[in-house]
Amino acid sequence: MSLQLNATHAPELRSWVESANQPGADFPIQNLPLAVFRPQGGNTACCGVGIGDQVLEIAACAPLMSDPLARSAAQACEAADTLNALMALGPEAMSALRAELSSLLSANQKTHREALQRALHPIDRVELLQPVRVAGYTDFFASVHHATNAGRLFRPDAPLLPNYKYVPVAYSGRANSVRVSGAPVQRPWGQLKRPDQAAPVFAPAQRLDFEVELAMYIGAPSRLGSPVAVANAWGHVFGFSLLNDWSARDIQSWEYQPLGPFLAKSFATSVAPWVITAEALAPFRQAVAARPEGDPAPLPHLLDTNDQAHGTVNVEIEALLRTERMRATGASAQRLSRSNASTLYWSFAQMVAHHTSNGSALDTGDLLGSGTISGSSADALGSLLEITRGGSEPLAIAATQEQRSFLQDGDEVSFRGRCSREGFISIGWGHCTNTVLAASA
Ligand code: MN
Repeated sequence: MSLQLNATHAPELRSWVESANQPGADFPIQNLPLAVFRPQGGNTACCGVGIGDQVLEIAACAPLMSDPLARSAAQACEAADTLNALMALGPEAMSALRAELSSLLSANQKTHREALQRALHPIDRVELLQPVRVAGYTDFFASVHHATNAGRLFRPDAPLLPNYKYVPVAYSGRANSVRVSGAPVQRPWGQLKRPDQAAPVFAPAQRLDFEVELAMYIGAPSRLGSPVAVANAWGHVFGFSLLNDWSARDIQSWEYQPLGPFLAKSFATSVAPWVITAEALAPFRQAVAARPEGDPAPLPHLLDTNDQAHGTVNVEIEALLRTERMRATGASAQRLSRSNASTLYWSFAQMVAHHTSNGSALDTGDLLGSGTISGSSADALGSLLEITRGGSEPLAIAATQEQRSFLQDGDEVSFRGRCSREGFISIGWGHCTNTVLAASA
């Protein structure tokens, strides 16, 4: 199975692309993340794989590949402006492609270097595009720390609702407002009602927030009427990206009862351009966080012992803020939080199994968000809602003496991710960086 460790994860592996061998590089040869990019001066998009500070056109590698499965996967990238055709092929083809790309980029490979050089582009000279045409978008609520912190603001005595420990809670989001990192995020208008007001007003949101999340992309589809078991879920997982679920808290608090978030979220969702494949994450998988004593076990259809032992991913995500004034004065970004997906209450396979447990189908390109990833400590809170306790304890910005309860126009929010494990080469996730634009007039 493709999620086992294999030669592509070997820590001693080096690339002839020298920048990939620098300690701390985001894209060593063990990573091989996927993206869609437009070369400088070109009109057409290409599917590519990141290696060091370069991106390699995958379709151009097809003639150099000896394994027919890998070659047909590379051919699925020809004239493709999204990864969707490749994603639909499933994990076996992806694994074959990864093995061939690894061997073509390996320092031991000498025959094809000239042809490969022609298909390499410096990342800082290409335009990174949206990698996946998103089919459906579901956002989960898988961090019990976030659910507790957010719930406490509304229900101090009973922050967690009774379903939380049984149901991987989610809502349906809006696929067509997902945009790649770099696209500005415009402050939305909406109905706002403060507790001291009798009626709402229609105005630009004042309590604009970010949410630190991971995007899980579905590759191989599932059939309507055929639930996917936890044990088979990773067969449908293509890969992961950083995700920012922009949220207007004042719109949300008025509209959410009884059917959950709607316009508070659907105006914008940002994803990083790089998709970290499921197989690249094999060294960083670990046991799902133990449930506290007294919590119920998941119901049988959500419980699988192998998943409990290996079902989560150790990826640390940092959220950084740079205000307009910080940029003007050359101040570096301030870190707001550092949290880890390994603290999630629900595993990724449990999210997939729950999603399909009623027979609903998964499509290639479906995006399943993890929900805000917060940890148990004060420096691991994945939203301003939690950091500022609903805006009541503004955050101090040291470099410029500014304060923030929520985001202001011109603020830049950036997420970075990294997987590390003793004995393996650590891999980076690139970044997801967006600036807040003023509301339309
Ligand atoms: Mn969310």
